[in-house]
Amino acid sequence: ITSVAVLTSGGDSPGMNAAIRGVVRTALSYGITVFGIHRGFTGLLQNDMELLSSASVSNIVQRGGTFLKSARCPEFHDPACRKQAAKILHTRNIEALLVIGGDGSLTGAHLLEEETGIPVIGLPGTIDNDIFGTEDTIGFDTAMNTALDAIDRIRDTADSHERHFLVEVMGRNSGFLATHVGIAAGAEMILVPEYSVNIAEIALQLATSRKAGTGSSGIIVVAEGNEPDLTSKIAHELQQHGLAPHISILGHIQRGGRPSGHDRVLASCLGAVAIEYLLAGYSDIMVGVSNGEVVDIPLDDLIRYRKGLDPELLKIALQLHK
Ligand code: ATP
Repeated sequence: ITSVAVLTSGGDSPGMNAAIRGVVRTALSYGITVFGIHRGFTGLLQNDMELLSSASVSNIVQRGGTFLKSARCPEFHDPACRKQAAKILHTRNIEALLVIGGDGSLTGAHLLEEETGIPVIGLPGTIDNDIFGTEDTIGFDTAMNTALDAIDRIRDTADSHERHFLVEVMGRNSGFLATHVGIAAGAEMILVPEYSVNIAEIALQLATSRKAGTGSSGIIVVAEGNEPDLTSKIAHELQQHGLAPHISILGHIQRGGRPSGHDRVLASCLGAVAIEYLLAGYSDIMVGVSNGEVVDIPLDDLIRYRKGLDPELLKIALQLHK
């Protein structure tokens, strides 16, 4: 292999830059030319890319977001567009594509290889940590810590004013981020899409502990992927029980920011290993982490199987609140 391209796709996540740097510097060390494609699959379809040098990735390891830019590209669902993408790569003599993104992006990558034979390697870049086959994703640790910074502040106000706060965290349809954030923030309750909730029961429970003097304030972490308007429905129900909860939706502050040391190391290693795997003849795989070790996961598997939330972890989370 003498020439590869790299792109970032889907929602940005802290550490994507470190992953690009890992890919570029490792590839260059083997004498491989690297193109950086702008704005994910959108840029690929527009043949919008630049040749990357070692200097192109200087001073980015500490930066959030992705300097290559990211985008959602609905056209890539169309096989004709994927064929067009392969043609563009062939014309430039690019022999393999590295895709850093979430499960949607990696699905697009898999289809590209399956239909056109272009070798692809995926890197899990998402704050949601919802990708099958890997216990960690680039950006998850940073997003968790960003949410914790916010919740620790909210806790001071909740405590001082003896109020309950419903804090909505990101995570799409997965409760991973919410569960981890909830445990680390000492949340009184964690609501995740994987388990349905009885709103009336929750409200009663919180109202009862408030009356008993054991819970005058509290943090309830709600994953965004729950049923629509779950947060405001709970708030409304709590009001019926005489509580006056506040709602705080953390939103996009969780996506950006300086990547944590953990995410920088993870992203750098996965970027480097992605090139090593490619040179060893692997493709149509994602590089991920299992039992603390870097592993390869067939892209086909991560499309077919859904990553489940560890029920034990949720049980522990719920046991830890008073
Ligand atoms: P995040 O976890 O941050 O949402 P993601 O990669 O899952 O990241 P998506 O919006 O699902 O984000 O996908 C990003 C892009 O990947 C899409 O805009 C599209 O270009 C491509 N993609 C997603 N799903 C498919 C699919 N089934 N077939 C082909 N391409 C896809």
